[in-house]
Amino acid sequence: MFCVECGKDGPTVEGLCPSCFRKRNPLVHPPESIDAVVCVDCQRLESGGGWVRVEVETAIPMLLRERVPTDPRAGRVTFTHVSRAEDAKNFGLSVKAAARISDIEIVESFRTRLRVQQGLCPTCNRRRSNYYEGILQVRAVDRPLTGGERIRLVAFVQEAIARRSAKGEEVFVSKVEEVRGGADVYLSSNRVARTVARELADAFRGTVGSSPKLFGQKDGKDLYRVTYVVRIPRGTPSGGRDPGTP
Ligand SMILES: [Zn+2]
Ligand SMILES: [Zn+2]
Repeated sequence: MFCVECGKDGPTVEGLCPSCFRKRNPLVHPPESIDAVVCVDCQRLESGGGWVRVEVETAIPMLLRERVPTDPRAGRVTFTHVSRAEDAKNFGLSVKAAARISDIEIVESFRTRLRVQQGLCPTCNRRRSNYYEGILQVRAVDRPLTGGERIRLVAFVQEAIARRSAKGEEVFVSKVEEVRGGADVYLSSNRVARTVARELADAFRGTVGSSPKLFGQKDGKDLYRVTYVVRIPRGTPSGGRDPGTP
């Protein structure tokens, strides 16, 4: 076979020798810069899959895969890079991209700059505006909670939320209010408020009641803020069970 471009004899792809094919079909279209957004509150980094807990340096291969346009005929393009921090927010990147198109091994090098910008993820944005969907009220039956009980019950709820948040669930405690008879814990997720109310009642042998209140609409659906009240009985065992330990 002869290359239609340069006339060289040998294997061809789409009529071109490997070297002419590469010239005609760049593997990557490197952007001048790649912007990464890091949340100022939680330090998570925005990626195509959401906000992830990862160091910027560690995230560079992922950012390259997400942000550098590549020839769609290439299967998985692998990037290797060397980064040089110019300051806290700018990294110079020397990148090698490698892939196969048809039977041709292609390796291309380019330089780009990674710019780290500050942003606010949706969860932290909600947290800052004291967003909540559910209220978990901790109370006792026929009496006010003692100070010690109130501290234990609120701590139970806060730990249950912290465990979920550590696993990557988008949930947080908006605020805790001490009220007559107990405390009100405001939670960003109605679903989690319901589950934690159940866990709390199970751990302290209490009961759960609930009352929904319509507070708006989203995409034609009614939105409710639900108040869950957990009442613990008289003579409750002092500690309660910690569900975090088997
Ligand atoms: Zn050629
Ligand atoms: Zn955040």
